[in-house]
Amino acid sequence: MSEVLVVGSLAYDSVKTPSGTAAKSLGGSANYFAVAASLFAPVRVVGVVGEDYSAEDKAVLIKRNVDLTGMQTVPGKTFHWEGTYEQNLNEAVTLKTELNVFAHFNPSLPASYRNSSFVFLANIDPDLQLQVLSQVEKPLFVGMDSMNFWINSKQEELKKVLRKVDIVFMNETEAKMLTQTSNTIRAIKAVAALGPKFVVLKKGEYGSTLYSPGHGFYQTPALPIESVVDPTGAGDSFAGGFFGTLAAAGAKVPEWNDLKAATLAGTVMSSQTIQDFSLNALAKVDRSLFDMQLLQLKQMM
Ligand code: AMP
Repeated sequence: MSEVLVVGSLAYDSVKTPSGTAAKSLGGSANYFAVAASLFAPVRVVGVVGEDYSAEDKAVLIKRNVDLTGMQTVPGKTFHWEGTYEQNLNEAVTLKTELNVFAHFNPSLPASYRNSSFVFLANIDPDLQLQVLSQVEKPLFVGMDSMNFWINSKQEELKKVLRKVDIVFMNETEAKMLTQTSNTIRAIKAVAALGPKFVVLKKGEYGSTLYSPGHGFYQTPALPIESVVDPTGAGDSFAGGFFGTLAAAGAKVPEWNDLKAATLAGTVMSSQTIQDFSLNALAKVDRSLFDMQLLQLKQMM
């Protein structure tokens, strides 16, 4: 069993979906990732929160034995994201991004984190992603995620990160936006050409596509979910299930078959997250629910 290091946002989200609204509830890419990954392997978090971050919200990760040595609390307000989903539940519309304490975050990796084998650079400022990665001594397998906010505001820095990772997770719209391509397959190939050995393209209710130039494509459907309450965090939960599964197999470089299996774990974790607001549904997932859903996915395939 290896550990997974994640840097990403620890946030309060205000979200409106056709099912209702949730104001200033717990969110952030690192939170979703850590809860999902910790079902399979030990997780170490790097991030920053403000003084408004409640003990109850911190306890969500503590309950999962997530290592919070690299989580700082500083004066100011926690990162706040406001978004809405309209007819298309696969796509969030950002209304507000308030970086708050993340605007001046300067992560210095605790000594105990530097030997991490699996590293996930969750959605956050690409400069912070690079800063964290440069402090890990000998990472075995590095992944990243991003979003339109950073594609628009820090594209060159984002491309630098892409050159340094083994795998990138992107949603379909963002991949097309980054590569200025309208065809999904061409977009995946163009993302791979930017550096990563593997690409996972997330397509919401239409599942995901794993790609590598050497192995080609592996398509996974999404689990059929009737009550999609809030898609926020689906991508991070996918990556968490994916990386947690890889780390659980120990300190070895994952092969194509490992990545295919990890895709199924990611699919199951994201399908749970979307059934309630915030981390409410994800935090309830235990191994028996996971195993049941994984079996359902395999039978369906
Ligand atoms: P996703 O898995 O893509 O749905 O990620 C949703 C999470 O990303 C939310 O909980 C937000 O707090 C977080 N988020 C939104 N915008 C940003 C941003 N610009 N940087 C970092 N995290 C963000």
